[in-house]
Amino acid sequence: MFGFTQWRRRRILRKFNVDDAAWQRVSACFPFVARLNDDERSRLRDLAILFMHGKQISGAGGLELNQEMKLGIAVQACVLILELGIEHYDGWVEIIVYPDEFMPRHEIRNEHGLVETDEMSYAGQAWLRGPVILSWADVEHAGEMDGMNVVIHEFAHKLDMLNGEANGFPPLHAGMDRREWSQAFTAAYQDLCRRVSAGEHTEIDPYATASPAEFFAVVSEAFFELPDIVRAVYPQVYEQLALFYRQDPANRELPREWRLE
Ligand SMILES: [Zn+2]
Repeated sequence: MFGFTQWRRRRILRKFNVDDAAWQRVSACFPFVARLNDDERSRLRDLAILFMHGKQISGAGGLELNQEMKLGIAVQACVLILELGIEHYDGWVEIIVYPDEFMPRHEIRNEHGLVETDEMSYAGQAWLRGPVILSWADVEHAGEMDGMNVVIHEFAHKLDMLNGEANGFPPLHAGMDRREWSQAFTAAYQDLCRRVSAGEHTEIDPYATASPAEFFAVVSEAFFELPDIVRAVYPQVYEQLALFYRQDPANRELPREWRLE
């Protein structure tokens, strides 16, 4: 794989712009865009264009996707890589969107050699070196600022998979400390597991206790949607995520219209 050269990047941006009205309508849906300054918004828009150009986003199960729906997915996927670069999503191309939750026909061979099917339905999936699959019904709820965002979740898994199967330990940048990452995430994960099994109400979605990989994806959703809560509950995890995403959303002002009463 080779990355985008500056020349290719400029050529794509000139050729495939999104019009201002569509950009305004779509980007106004997301609280994490509301926290960005003008320069960051304009870089997010460029990344979304490069993303739509480089990926194949298609509807399945009868869903027809228009340009604004694709742009909405691109904006959410690109907020994670705003300070990292589009190259972080190299190596795979396909995004498949179903109208609603989907039930993949996995066949799993159990320990007796019998084939079982996994009857789970999913809002999203991310495959190692393969596609991201999303449920549009869940993507549409993304603007609600409840700390849940299926697009951010699945693309956090994609970043985690840059060094193999998702395990909650993505490749860290130079200058980050693996031990600090590990200590922060292990302590928070164990704390959340303990609180969930004690039946406590938790600010972080209990689904995060499914595995360290799910914990990383779920806290990434919350980091962009409700960063103050992540910082208050698990400050060390917040600090590691801020270093990893190179963003500090809890220190950005959220415009009044987005504030929860
Ligand atoms: Zn997940």
